[in-house]
Amino acid sequence: MMVRCDVAVIGSGPAGLAVATSCAALGLDVVCIAPDPWRSWTPNYGLWSHQASLVDEDVIAARYATPRVWLGTDDALTLPDAYVKLSTFRLHRSMHGRAEAAGVRFVESEVSSLAHDEVGSLVRTSAGVTVRSAVVVDASGAGSRWLERSGDALDAHQTAYGVLAEVAEHPYASGEMSFMDFRHAPGGDERAAPSFLYALPVDGNHVFLEETALVRAPAMPLEVLEARLAERLAAMGLRVVAIHEVERCSIAMGLELPSTAQRTVGFGAAASMVHPATGYQLAAALERAPEVAGAIARGLAIGTPATAARAAWDAVWPAPRARLWSLYRFGMAALCGFDLARTRLFFEAFFALDAKDRRRYLDASASPAELASIMARLFWGAPLTTQWQLIRHGMGSGRAELWRAASLGGIA
Ligand SMILES: Cc1cc2nc3c(=O)[nH]c(=O)nc-3n(C[C@H](O)[C@H](O)[C@H](O)COP(=O)(O)OP(=O)(O)OC[C@H]3O[C@@H](n4cnc5c(N)ncnc54)[C@H](O)[C@@H]3O)c2cc1C
Repeated sequence: MMVRCDVAVIGSGPAGLAVATSCAALGLDVVCIAPDPWRSWTPNYGLWSHQASLVDEDVIAARYATPRVWLGTDDALTLPDAYVKLSTFRLHRSMHGRAEAAGVRFVESEVSSLAHDEVGSLVRTSAGVTVRSAVVVDASGAGSRWLERSGDALDAHQTAYGVLAEVAEHPYASGEMSFMDFRHAPGGDERAAPSFLYALPVDGNHVFLEETALVRAPAMPLEVLEARLAERLAAMGLRVVAIHEVERCSIAMGLELPSTAQRTVGFGAAASMVHPATGYQLAAALERAPEVAGAIARGLAIGTPATAARAAWDAVWPAPRARLWSLYRFGMAALCGFDLARTRLFFEAFFALDAKDRRRYLDASASPAELASIMARLFWGAPLTTQWQLIRHGMGSGRAELWRAASLGGIA
């Protein structure tokens, strides 16, 4: 069977549905190809409340007015931004419904090959469907097979083991959550590789509890995180009555940036859009989908499929954003080597930054120059041993990222 369209989108995760819907809303004929477009997703997604308007109101499952951070002691820091937990089922239903309403057609199959010529692209699926399109957007996630990348991959992952637990009682007040709780040292070892507790209470007897290794290379194994979670909950005196769901999370954090000269346009985790400092990506995909769709529509209106792909890549990875990512990747690679004690000191310096800088760091809205200045303040606020570790990293394996960040017109 042959299907013709303007834009073929590979993948029906949040990034795929967002960009497919935005393209269709501009009048483009869009086909989304994925093996499971009608099945809901599994990750538990959260957003900062200033990003909550990116999703429909009914997608929000809970709001937390007081996200807390605990470093080494029982004195909590309260973050100024509220946080929201999304219902994954309702997020999928809402995004899928919007895609269908905008006219996106779905092909339920896996892409098996992809080729380009002067008139467009040819996508073949394992079910024998051929899709002829002007432009192809690859939103097939971090395991994408269709994008060429440049630079060095880091085997860095965020891993987390989470449970939706029924508990006799939990320590969180109404509206309170744990964004990061670093109080417990596994086995009492302050030099251990760090992990923290991310906890979102659902009601008085149910709480989502996730032991998270922010970023490690190689990844912290899920069995280690599962054992750490059990040890931590015992130390907190938190009695689990039943476990209703388990989340095994692994987020690739060190994917190289895709080459922006290729005909296949990348979007979402496939295009390395996962934030190297946080592992977040959902808000960025929702925010940028209309820009990328606009670039494709304009490119097709004035030029060839190759023109449209170039314009789309400029919207996904404009040069300043690529420089920003090199700086983040430099910081991430350094963080991979920190033990628990040093990680606590790093976050002490981070949470001492003013709220505006923290937000710009977390949602990647700083310019490269602003990010460099924030990172310099973190450096000067860190203890001498940490500074020395960062200098060694900057002269060693992190040199390439710094050079990339500073090239193409400098960090500005
Ligand atoms: C457990 C977990 C929790 C997370 N929590 C958050 C969070 O709270 N906030 C946040 O911002 N980010 C979070 N992330 C990070 C990121 O936002 C998610 O990974 C997000 O799902 C990435 O979206 P995506 O659409 O790019 O890729 P994916 O969600 O991975 O979707 C990829 C799609 O491509 C399809 N596909 C793959 N191969 C093919 C093929 N050959 N042919 C056709 N289709 C194909 C898949 O079936 C799927 O539909 C989390 C990630 C995980 C794993």
